[in-house]
Amino acid sequence: MNIPFVSFTPMEKELHSDIENAFKRVFERSWYIGGAENEAFEEAFSEYCNTGYCVGVGNGLDALMLSLKAFNIGEGDEVIVPSNTFIATALAVTYTGATPVFVEPDINTYNINPNLIEEKITDKTKAIIPVHLYGEAADMKPILKIAGKYNLKVIEDCAQAHGATYGGERVGSFGDVGAFSFYPGKNLGALGDGGAIVTDDKALADKIRALGNYGSDYKYHHIYKGNNSRLDELHAAFLNAKLPHLDRMNEERGKIAKAYYEGIKNSKIILPGIHASITNAEGSVSKPVWHIYAVRTRSGAEREALEKYLSNKGIGTNKHYPIPIHLQECYKDLGFKKGDFPIAEEISATELSLPMYYGLKDEEVKYVIDAINKF
Ligand SMILES: *Cc1c(COP(=O)(O)O)cnc(C)c1O
Repeated sequence: MNIPFVSFTPMEKELHSDIENAFKRVFERSWYIGGAENEAFEEAFSEYCNTGYCVGVGNGLDALMLSLKAFNIGEGDEVIVPSNTFIATALAVTYTGATPVFVEPDINTYNINPNLIEEKITDKTKAIIPVHLYGEAADMKPILKIAGKYNLKVIEDCAQAHGATYGGERVGSFGDVGAFSFYPGKNLGALGDGGAIVTDDKALADKIRALGNYGSDYKYHHIYKGNNSRLDELHAAFLNAKLPHLDRMNEERGKIAKAYYEGIKNSKIILPGIHASITNAEGSVSKPVWHIYAVRTRSGAEREALEKYLSNKGIGTNKHYPIPIHLQECYKDLGFKKGDFPIAEEISATELSLPMYYGLKDEEVKYVIDAINKF
């Protein structure tokens, strides 16, 4: 059997005519930037996230960066980010001129450990960017408490967690602003780059929209030195076609995760932890959307062996992420060395992501489980 790490084919087959119609709608209107599709998507997506406003932007990195800029964060400021995340979280901070300050994750959930945030706060700290990594919400309650205590902005990095809930509420609705990516491989993906921010603050939404549109509040009138970062009409149209299917497709990912949890029985494999049930008043618990199903091995050598073993059986895997941010060449200037963030380093060395995508068949999931159990 040949099982890729990710495939868009089952989803694209199913939504073929919806996607084609989306293209036709835009092409027949001959209107490509900032139009009816963006308006419809922004309304639908803000409603989906249970926030007042949504603004389409060019990609997820810009969604984070424009949010930071909207809070006037820049040179001399510090922003708390997880040491274990995709590099874009840190790059967004760097691009504003501010400095990313790394906080170690919880080894079980892979998400930022709220107990380690306070010791990193200085009088330069302006914001926290919790990341809902691999599709599981970060532990927002203590994070919001710390942010309140020190008067910090909270920018949720929701790039891997469209639709994930924390105590029954959707991610993106907790912080001052939620930043999303619609990179094709995300749970909700365009057919190219795309992104959005969601917020309850109208003035903030207006400012982010202006910042992504040459700093313009109305045509040829510029209040900020902005840049160009907008969601194309075509991508907004594709997202309008896909959004109605997001919950159902996330549910299917959940079934695959459940099968992995129940089926994988091998003392060499450490399964991903989920938060102890965080509930709201109605008893709704947190629900991950399984962007990635991240297992760990007991050592780096064992991870390499597992990867090779699965590859020989036709099973595609991936590593998220093989080099932690503090050891990346581009961040040499921050002066970190191996051993500075041991938990992020441990995850980098031992994490392996199993096949996870909409349309992965039961027999394929079973094949992956059987292979892992024989490792
Ligand atoms: C994908 C991703 C981003 C960046 O999104 P792009 O649309 O690729 O710019 C930011 N943060 C995280 C955690 C991501 O996974």
